[in-house]
Amino acid sequence: MATLHEIKQVLGTNGHSAGRSSSTKDITKIFGSNVFNDKVMRERLPKETYKGLRKTIEQGAPLSLDVANVVANAMKDWAIERGASHYTHWFQPLTGITAEKHDSFIAPAGDGSVIMEFSGKQLIQGEPDASSFPSGGLRATFEARGYTAWDCTSPAFLKEDSSGDVTLFIPTAFCSYTGEALDKKTPLLRSMEAVSKQAMRVLRALGNKTSTRVTATVGPEQEYFLIDKKFYDQRLDLMSSGRTLFGAPSPKGQELEDQYFGSIKDRISRFMKDLDIELWKMGVSAKTKHNEVAPAQFELAPIFTTTNIAADHNQLVMETLQKVALRLGLVCLLHEKPFAGVNGSGKHNNWSLATDDGHNLLEPGKTPHDNEQFLVFTSAVIKAVDVHADLLRAGAANTGNDLRLGANEAPPAIISVFMGEELSDILFDLAKGKKAESKGQHYLNIGADSLPALPKDNTDRNRTSPFAFTGNKFEFRMVPSSISISGPNTVLNTITAEALDEIATRLEKAKDVNKEAAAIIKETINKHGRIIFNGNNYSEEWVKEAKKRGLPNIRSMVEALEVLAKPETAKLFEKYKVLTKGELHSRYEVYLEKYSKDINIEARASIEMVKRQYLPAVMRYTGELAQIISGLRAVGVSSSVQKDLLSEISVLLDSSAKKLELLEAATKKAQSVSEAHQKAAAFRDKVVPAANELRKDIDALETLLPTCCWPVPSYADMLFKL
Ligand code: ADP
Ligand code: MG
Repeated sequence: MATLHEIKQVLGTNGHSAGRSSSTKDITKIFGSNVFNDKVMRERLPKETYKGLRKTIEQGAPLSLDVANVVANAMKDWAIERGASHYTHWFQPLTGITAEKHDSFIAPAGDGSVIMEFSGKQLIQGEPDASSFPSGGLRATFEARGYTAWDCTSPAFLKEDSSGDVTLFIPTAFCSYTGEALDKKTPLLRSMEAVSKQAMRVLRALGNKTSTRVTATVGPEQEYFLIDKKFYDQRLDLMSSGRTLFGAPSPKGQELEDQYFGSIKDRISRFMKDLDIELWKMGVSAKTKHNEVAPAQFELAPIFTTTNIAADHNQLVMETLQKVALRLGLVCLLHEKPFAGVNGSGKHNNWSLATDDGHNLLEPGKTPHDNEQFLVFTSAVIKAVDVHADLLRAGAANTGNDLRLGANEAPPAIISVFMGEELSDILFDLAKGKKAESKGQHYLNIGADSLPALPKDNTDRNRTSPFAFTGNKFEFRMVPSSISISGPNTVLNTITAEALDEIATRLEKAKDVNKEAAAIIKETINKHGRIIFNGNNYSEEWVKEAKKRGLPNIRSMVEALEVLAKPETAKLFEKYKVLTKGELHSRYEVYLEKYSKDINIEARASIEMVKRQYLPAVMRYTGELAQIISGLRAVGVSSSVQKDLLSEISVLLDSSAKKLELLEAATKKAQSVSEAHQKAAAFRDKVVPAANELRKDIDALETLLPTCCWPVPSYADMLFKL
């Protein structure tokens, strides 16, 4: 374990990387150096305490206060040695970002001095005032207490900021006085339990005697944009809504395809290096970094891990991206569509199921038994996605994604599953009751023969699919870049749990398990094979074909959320103890409200920019043109160029002034609607189109006015001056 002193030496700085770039000389020492991980626990905890805690972490056994007291004390000593004075219970309210309230370790010693104290109770439970977090009506302000409960399966860590301040972060779940979930983590943990339980039943029925738990694993690839802070500071739209609400296209976009995997510029390389080091210290296994498709767009991928840790780490990634960018005079944009006309950002949520003894259940494997297991679990996922495509779509809904899904190279709003040609052939052959044949070499008769070796490399990948099988995992690509991955994974785990439950019930009753497994695979593909699509998801034909197949095409967040209000959705979540009806409904309300608030902010920013920046600039310029024209006339020169330009600009000026009025009226009207769904629909149907109309005129004006007269930086400035 590296001491803070060693880390400082390795980094060659005062422990944080502000100022100049950090060294990566000894990454193995840096990695996890700020984490109270298993290694530290083994070193610092008495044997019995360590064993007790491991039992809680691995098997969910209750944690005794005695064990908690010893752990808390060791954690405190470790944190103080590293410069921490405060700790915080770190949680994930429904805002989608994280929350923290810092408490110092000081306690009165009784003689006017203080001692540093941290009890088991303080470690296990916190009581933040919860009244200002969204709850969708679950918790009235008069009973504003919320509780945070330690999630000991995600390790505590230290967070340093560039001032050198160090704080102990304790990952927690957040609930109300009466135990209702007020956060994103609680249902995620519950869904992990649900999928583990049902997957274990299937495994046992298939003869597995060694595994005791199944974990949902996730590796989320994070896309983001970087722009120079001096441009960001001049754009009210970016500052208030995270995306450009106006902006004529730059002459060069992404058409040359010269950004994707292109060589990384020095400034960005420095950023990525500092970012990696900050993440590594906190135990986030940042692995891959590269330029993405759009100009100024990049990606970071970590090594996959347990879902709740992956979700915690992804929150840290998003936060650290923004922090490190600021240190280098950059701003990181996490919005799904910061710039119209070029690619947006998403998260590719790679997901699989693994046993505690190290088997990936979505790995085709080599033996007939592994193959059978793989096909059964894959069938479960296919069924889950087909039955609950709408729910999965809701899990990936946010305001920004309405602009991304179905646009430039983003997955469409229609959910389908890519299985690859070879695997699809096998599945559909099995469905027809044919002995599956692959390239004439292998015949498959589930339970007896084995699958051919399946191609696992990039050649078999379909970049256009929203839900793609990529060799030993599924990649859900619809997830928005800025949201917590907890929501989509809660859905994924729960719907898979349901499909596995149904399969387990059949297998447990079967006389011949292999025969029954084959029958299950056959029936699943016959019934749900329509969700499999290996073609181009971006094409118009697919939209038509999907309609024929009866697959939902849900274009907007407001429409996507409707499934959360359906009784059958509440039943599903209640059955697997993931969310109660009340908890689910509160989420529906909170997300609808969030949409209305987002669009309201965008509309207000648009109105302000047009009124106070664009129109005054255009009026000033038309005044100058008029003066030039009358000056020319006075000296007897008649040129139509200036006059033509003036009239073209004047037409647009008039039109934009009218459209501004319409946007103001639509916004006011939407604001006055009180019912949450109707309000959100008014923002979507009236305000968004009005704002888009206004943008057309302003963007057209941008192409007519001289650069020096335009009040804000252009797309070319933001995308290429990096
Ligand atoms: P690509 O960009 O081609 O999709 P990468 O290798 O960059 O592929 O990213 C794949 C992501 O999937 C990584 O985060 C990786 O850790 C993750 N991953 C790999 N195996 C699993 C698994 N079994 N479960 C969940 N995620 C996985
Ligand atoms: Mg990917």
